[in-house]
Amino acid sequence: MSLEAARAGDRKVVTAFIGVGANLGFARDAVLNALADLSRLPMTDFVASSSLYRSAPVEGDGPDYINAVAEITTQQSAHELLLALQALETKYGRVRTTRNAPRTLDLDLLLYGDGILKTPDLTVPHPRIAERAFVLMPLMELAGSISIPGHGRADVLVERITGQEIERLES
Ligand code: ADP
Ligand code: MG
Repeated sequence: MSLEAARAGDRKVVTAFIGVGANLGFARDAVLNALADLSRLPMTDFVASSSLYRSAPVEGDGPDYINAVAEITTQQSAHELLLALQALETKYGRVRTTRNAPRTLDLDLLLYGDGILKTPDLTVPHPRIAERAFVLMPLMELAGSISIPGHGRADVLVERITGQEIERLES
């Protein structure tokens, strides 16, 4: 048994969804490369990724975003995942400036099983999951009318969103 497997001990396997977005530099490449990186996370299996979407910035400015959602199963805790996602953001040259500022890569932990978490650095489901078409549309491609803990069904939530420009890109 590998050291990693031994350390995993009685860890549970949890299905998680990760939101991937970028709107600076080679955004499409960053999203595709980040999806590949997610498939290599320790204690994690890659299940599927959505199509790519193009969306106009919400409450922000700059170029359009390229977005996708990835589904993984993982034995990492939600906090371990957050740290891994932040390390990847840094690897892609993300610089944190102002809220909603353009970014080379944004990785959000959208859902962690049916868990609800509220800590100073991590809120799950992601705090704005229910208001963002660029999250809900790719998520629904993977998980249909999935129920989002504390918010309700994705297909019902997406119908309530108005005024957000988004298109699915042909592969
Ligand atoms: P956003 O993705 O909402 O545009 P940022 O990527 O700049 O914002 O993240 C800001 C902070 O959000 C991070 O420092 C992180 O600690 C916190 N955060 C809280 N919940 C989550 C989550 N579920 N996924 C990712 N980051 C989260
Ligand atoms: Mg983020």
